[in-house]
This record gives sequence, C-alpha cells and structure tokens, in this order.
Amino acid sequence: MTTWEAVIGIETHVELSTASKMFCACRADTPPEPNTACCPVCLALPGALPVANERAISDIVKIGLSLDCEINESSLFYRKSYFYPDLPKNYQISQYTFPVCENGTLDLDVDGEIRTIGITRVHMEEDTGKSTHVGGGDGRIYDADYTLLDFNRAGVPLVEIVSEPDISSAKEARAYGAEIQRIVLALGVSDAKLEAGSMRFDVNVSVRPVGETEFGTRTETKNVNSLRSVERTVDFEIERQIIVLEGGGEIVLETRHWNENTGRTSSMRPKEESEDYRYFQDPDLLPLELPSEWQEAIRETLPELPAARRKRFITAGVDNVTAGVLVDTPALASMFEAAVAEGAPARSVGIWLTGEVVAHTRRRAIAVSDTALTSDHIVELIAMIDGGELSSSAAKQVLAGVLDGEGTPRNVAESEDLLQVSDTGAIEEAIAAVLEANPDALDKIHAGDMKPFGFLVGQVMRHMGGRADPKVVQSLLRTATTP
Ligand code: ADP
Ligand code: MG
Ligand code: ZN
Repeated sequence: MTTWEAVIGIETHVELSTASKMFCACRADTPPEPNTACCPVCLALPGALPVANERAISDIVKIGLSLDCEINESSLFYRKSYFYPDLPKNYQISQYTFPVCENGTLDLDVDGEIRTIGITRVHMEEDTGKSTHVGGGDGRIYDADYTLLDFNRAGVPLVEIVSEPDISSAKEARAYGAEIQRIVLALGVSDAKLEAGSMRFDVNVSVRPVGETEFGTRTETKNVNSLRSVERTVDFEIERQIIVLEGGGEIVLETRHWNENTGRTSSMRPKEESEDYRYFQDPDLLPLELPSEWQEAIRETLPELPAARRKRFITAGVDNVTAGVLVDTPALASMFEAAVAEGAPARSVGIWLTGEVVAHTRRRAIAVSDTALTSDHIVELIAMIDGGELSSSAAKQVLAGVLDGEGTPRNVAESEDLLQVSDTGAIEEAIAAVLEANPDALDKIHAGDMKPFGFLVGQVMRHMGGRADPKVVQSLLRTATTP
C-alpha cells in the first residue's frame, strides 16, 4: 500500500475596483447594460493605443507588499495570444518575465500551526469580456445555438497571484484563499466577491507517494468560485488521482472544471503550455518604471493587515478563534477596539461580541451595523455583569433588547426588571426565612456536613425570584451558617 501526499498550488485572480479600465478611460464597474462601457482601445480597433492605469499599478504594488514580495523596479507587459470570442484583441495584455511582484510569502495559521506559503509572482493583466451561451444544454458553449458577447468587462484590471506548490491539504487551500481575500479587502483594492467572480481561484493539484521528491503531474481546475468549493475541489482531485494511479493509470496535465452540483471535477481540455501562447513583449507599452522611492511611498499607505490585527487582539487578551471572528467582521472589530479603549476587559468584550451579538444578528438575519449596539453599550453591559447587577442569563436578555434598539443596558434592565439584587438587607431577610424553614439542613452544616449548602443557596435564590447575585448569597449564607 502506497501512502500518498498532496501538492497544491493556487492561482488567484482579483478584479481591481479602479474607476477606469486597465489601458483605457472606460468605466471599470461593468454596468449591466451590455457593451456600454467600451471604446476603441478595449475593443482593440486598429490603431488604438493602450495606456497603463496608474491606480491599478499602485493597487497591485499594495498587494505585492502585503505578501512580502520584491517589487521589480522595471516591469514589462506582454501579449498572451489565444483566440476566444470574448477576447477582442485575440491576445490578453499580461506579464511574463519581470512581473510587478515576485518572491513573496504568506503565513497561514492552520489549526494553530503556522504554515508559510511561497508566492511565486503577482502580475498585472486585463480581464476578458463575458459570453452568454444561449439555447440548448446547460449554458455551456457546446450545445448553444448562439452566443451573446458583452465587452464591458474586457480590459478591467485583473491581478493574478500565483502561489508556490507549498499547500498540502484541502483545509490549507481554503485557509490560503480566505487569507488572500481578507488581505485584498483590508487593502480596499477589490470587492473580492467570489460569488460575483471579482475574485476566483484556479486550483492545481497533484499527488505523490510520501518520500518521493519529484512532483507528480498536476491538473488545474479553473474558476473555482467559493472557498468551500476550493476545499471540495482539492479533496475530490486528491481522491480521484489516487484512484487513477493505484489502478495503474496516469494523470494527464489538463484543465478541469468544478461542478458544484455533482461535487466532481471533469476534464475540459488538455492544458496549454506557455509556448502555445506565443508570448511577446507588447510593442505598444513602455516598460513600467517603479522607482524604490515610489514603492516606499505606497508602503506608507498600507493599512494594518488582518494578521497583524489578529495578533494585536490576541495580545489584548482574546483567543485565536475570537480574534479571527472579530477581524473578519469589521463592524465587530471596531466595536471591540472602542470598548477596550474605554477600559472594558478585552476577553469579556470578545466573548460577548462574537457570541451573543453574532447569534442575535444571525437570528434576525441582519448585519451588526443594522443593530442599535454601540461600544458604550458593551462597556456598560460588562460593567453591570462584573458589578453583580446582572446575571449572565439576564445580561443576554438585556443585550437582545439593546440590539433591538430598546435603549441602554441600564434602561433595558430596569424596564424589564432584570437587575440583580445585591442589597444585602433583602438577601439577609431571605436567608433568615430559608434557615427557619430548614432547621435540619442547618443542623447538618453545624455538624460539619456541608452537603445541604448548595440546596440552601438554591432556596434563597428562589426566595429572591432568581434576581439575587449568587456570589453575594453564598457569602452571606456562609456567614449565617457558621456557628
Ligand atoms: P499556468 O499558467 O500554466 O497554470 P502558473 O505558473 O501560472 O502556470 O501556475 C502554476 C500553478 O501550479 C502554481 O500555483 C504552481 O504552484 C502550481 N503547480 C506547479 N506544479 C505543480 C504540481 N506538480 N502540483 C501541484 N501544483 C503545481
Ligand atoms: Mg494557470
Ligand atoms: Zn475602453
């Protein structure tokens, strides 16, 4: 029996959310009316000349710097030739040698273990148009009667991030995709919507016997458009390839397609080799000069990245998982920061925000920003709990009211009569009544048998309608039962 290991590399395409396209002044937000955002340049009419979009270049440099890449001071545009109806030029302007960014790394925390994934390159290219295959079949070209073409997306700036084959499991592949998405969102360079195609993954998978140093032949599954599908694609391909190899078959270098409904990949076409693309330097575009001072100025504009933010939250006192949830929900992260800055204990703030607040918004199917919650509310709520004014179950009820806009925690606690009694007089009266009704229990305690103590606490709590602070009850009862 052979034991197999997986080797995985991911190519990630990110559509930038610049105002204009990569090489012309057309709007880049792909308006819904087809072919209304096109011009001679993006339609490749004869004589039209491309000019690189400066904003797109600074955006790709931000991505590259965030992935610890080297930024080439001189970078070249190439023509990548292939024929497809949605590619008006019959070539795509892309990069080949001297991409904008090379040799980076990305650290992933996979179940508490840090894995460093190499980033081969991050290059600049342009998106294609969109084809809609009409009539027959399942919307794929093979059975279509005709095809509609919309060039609004043709020429939209597209960044491709290529990883080294350093990923070794489906889970890690998903964690990689998720972290790239977080970084791009934190940089604000793309809306990174997987379901809308503004971010998409090509997933390369091969397997080899453990101990083998050569890579096996890979397959490339194109345009996988959710994190869950990345994970499922990898799992499916690993299993499929092992079955083929153990059956004495061979894996062919090919492009495959992920079918979300069947949960399987299927062969699309043999994979192109780079010779097939007839790469040559685009004679219409000058080399991009990105002097180091310009790069440093871009570096100055980088926001705090998700990994650094998680680390900061963990240092403040929350656990890994809580830090992850906070950072992935910007509204919660900023509320966390504000509440902690106001002096609330980080650990409790983290627990309430990622626990009850998230649960409540899920129940209501709303976003955190749609609730009435402020950081002041969180600070007040936690102070009331820590001060013994609210039990944790009462605090949940109070928080629900606050989220629904019923007022501050104190308003809600008062109007719903949820405040705990820590007034010792009332509790002492209740204790006296309970002890009088349970002389046996008191005798046992006096004789050194502490078993009935818990029972008495329960009785006092009942007497208080559940609204006494259990800590105060325990301490007063201890005094009252000490001979
Ligand atoms: P192409 O454009 O031909 O797909 P790229 O260099 O852009 O080539 O991307 C190849 C991707 O495949 C990279 O992410 C790389 O890490 C990955 N890769 C290369 N060889 C293997 C292999 N044997 N198994 C798995 N992934 C691989
Ligand atoms: Mg590829
Ligand atoms: Zn245009």
